[in-house]
Amino acid sequence: MPTSSISFPFKVTIIPVTMIRQNCMILWDQNIKKGVITDPGGDVQHILSRVEELKIEVEAILLTHGHFDHVGVTMALQTELTKRQNQVVPILGPGKQDIFLLENIQQQMEQFGVFLPDTQNVTPTRFLEDKEQLDFSGLHFQVLHIPGHTPGHMVFFETNARILISGDVLFRGTIGRTDFSYGDGEALIRNIKNKILPLGDDICILPGHGLGSRIGFERQHNPFLVG
Ligand SMILES: [Zn+2]
Repeated sequence: MPTSSISFPFKVTIIPVTMIRQNCMILWDQNIKKGVITDPGGDVQHILSRVEELKIEVEAILLTHGHFDHVGVTMALQTELTKRQNQVVPILGPGKQDIFLLENIQQQMEQFGVFLPDTQNVTPTRFLEDKEQLDFSGLHFQVLHIPGHTPGHMVFFETNARILISGDVLFRGTIGRTDFSYGDGEALIRNIKNKILPLGDDICILPGHGLGSRIGFERQHNPFLVG
């Protein structure tokens, strides 16, 4: 019987939620069985059942930005987790610039032409700032403010596993849409180039929709970032 384990304790599971297939994620330390959930956009019972299966304690819910497909069931999830864990699970993020989105979840869904159950406006425990460090029991995130898709969009860089939770900022082969009235394509590209690409080519990117990638691949092949 081995007396020690060298296996890396960091784990991540991706849960595509709703018909929009938004990548809600659970990230946790397998040794201590504690972790966080990012962007619970819908399907709250599905997310809760995964947490049960994994037998982990959720230390926080992290939000990248205020779009309904990323945050819709945040309050319902917080209520359920708080009941089960017998202590309040904090909601951290996004930037305060996204308040106008968090307070208009129903209107966002109407504009998009969908209705998702269990959704409601979101009141974070606190908003996040650029360059903050979030230290949990087994996970350590650097917060980066990357506006352009929404004004308060944050991405989360887990510094041990070297994984970037990129929300709707950076996808495999493309970037987030900026055709909203509050969008800013120039700011989005500038912030990706100045703040995300320098993290290192080896960094694994886990976006809010679709497949993952690496920063090195995007630096060479993403048409919005080359040249
Ligand atoms: Zn979005």
